[in-house]
Amino acid sequence: MTDFTGKVVLITGGGSGIGRATALAFARGNATVVVSGRTPGPLAETVALIEKDGGRAEAVPADVSNARDVQNLVDATVRNHGGLDIAFNNAGAFAAAPVADMDEDAWNALLATNITGVFLPMKYEIAHMRENGGGVIVNTSSNIGAHQRLPGTGAYAATKAAVSALTRTAALENIAAGVRVNAVSPGPIDTTMSLRPGETEAQRADRMKTATPIGRVGTTEETAATVLWLASPASSYVVGHDLVIDGAATA
Ligand code: NAP
Repeated sequence: MTDFTGKVVLITGGGSGIGRATALAFARGNATVVVSGRTPGPLAETVALIEKDGGRAEAVPADVSNARDVQNLVDATVRNHGGLDIAFNNAGAFAAAPVADMDEDAWNALLATNITGVFLPMKYEIAHMRENGGGVIVNTSSNIGAHQRLPGTGAYAATKAAVSALTRTAALENIAAGVRVNAVSPGPIDTTMSLRPGETEAQRADRMKTATPIGRVGTTEETAATVLWLASPASSYVVGHDLVIDGAATA
């Protein structure tokens, strides 16, 4: 399940959090990993961590909401590494506001990152994978929106419900071509995204004792392990699924 020898993996949002942990896990499984995001510094740090461990990685900066960037990202991956076998479309952003108070520019920006930023990578990845006999795609959705509604998260929820719908539709469209598409829906995971404004990690840990049935935040490594399973042949009959990793928050 964790042997990805000979596989080329593309990860958006690979400079931090869930994306970085998943990049490290794939590299430990002997994959070649291309990490992407808008900011070169964190991407270079992910590459350095992988190379320090003896793995292979490259950073290709791209804004997932920009079609030209994304086309270049997929082209560069294929050109530099000979193909694209697995894609983890994970980049995303969060914005909190009640629907009635949501700023329109903030709304549009969130939709561009979280929805267009999954649609565009899938569009170019699928084209390549179909031409080359198949592949695996995992998108990052969220328990909020895809499986649960919380006041003050309407815009984010709308984007993640869209990711799950897009995932399932693309799965049906591409199953016959050997492209297997699934999503993961994390609950609160130990990245900066799950910290409330001004909150420390210790305060988050206290909040999680009652906020989740399992009594704690999830780890990026637990999320990565689930992504690797969905990307591996061990899950070959799992298609068009949106797998929650949330300590029973949506049970
Ligand atoms: P994170 O550390 O903030 O990661 C988000 C990543 O997305 C960053 O590396 C960021 O890099 C990248 N990104 C944002 N906008 C982008 C854009 N327009 N183009 C390219 N890259 C962009 O938080 P995380 O928790 O690991 O989040 C990863 C995914 O998990 C997101 O989709 C998030 O919605 C989802 N998620 C997280 C949680 C949680 O509790 N942490 C729960 C459910 C779902 P740059 O800023 O450098 O571009």
